Amino acid sequence: MQSSGKASRPPAAAQTALEAAVPPPAAPISEAAEIEELAHPTRSELAEEAVQPQLLPQLYVQAGHLMVPAPLRGSREVLVHQNTMADDEGLSRIRNDAELNHLRGLRLLVDFPVSESLHLNPALPANRRCARPWTVRFAADIAHAFYARFGEPLQVNSAARTVAYQRRLQRSNGNAAAVEGEAASPHLTGQAIDFGKRGMSEAELAWMRAMLLPLMSSGKIDVEEEFQQACFHISVYRSYLPPARKRGVARAEVAQLHRAE
Ligand SMILES: [Zn+2]
Repeated sequence: MQSSGKASRPPAAAQTALEAAVPPPAAPISEAAEIEELAHPTRSELAEEAVQPQLLPQLYVQAGHLMVPAPLRGSREVLVHQNTMADDEGLSRIRNDAELNHLRGLRLLVDFPVSESLHLNPALPANRRCARPWTVRFAADIAHAFYARFGEPLQVNSAARTVAYQRRLQRSNGNAAAVEGEAASPHLTGQAIDFGKRGMSEAELAWMRAMLLPLMSSGKIDVEEEFQQACFHISVYRSYLPPARKRGVARAEVAQLHRAE
């Protein structure tokens, strides 16, 4: 996931001097641009990441048979953890379309980059084709790797939701998560996405689980496979972003939140 630019960096002392010479980043436009850039990896970043072996999971074959990891089943504990993480990261629950559009305007929610590898559910309304920048970045990364392996896109079936929408969902679907409390739907924060898994082959399911497990173990995401809606529900955390850039984004978001008040 890391860029391989480390070797070309100047030594620590030189870097400090260099940093001192650089004026403090303050313009809101450039902060927003940085968030945008993080959410939408460049072609060269994707190419760099695609050749890094740690990104690509091994599929285990024994006596000619593919070993498919067990489904990453959800639990109340995993759901509560997603809400705890959202609280720790200072994410609000999006109440209505006005708030959703406000966050999009501030680029605290950014739109998914649609491509040959990343598709969106055609039924998704235009203003809900967005998520937190780190979630969008994760979606673009994994879809790119999936496409490189299987030649098929991943589809985002659901992403950011409002409390108003979730209430409607509850009326039509008895399994829909709550709108508040420790077990509220993580979609209300903009951190969660659902990738459809209908029609995925055993090899594709195995690859997805092998890809997601280590990210879950390292605390960068939480996954709950759903069977009625047939999707991978995934909450992505800020720590997913490349470490060198995280500080800038945190600063930008705090600054923007203050301006938004
Ligand atoms: Zn979901």
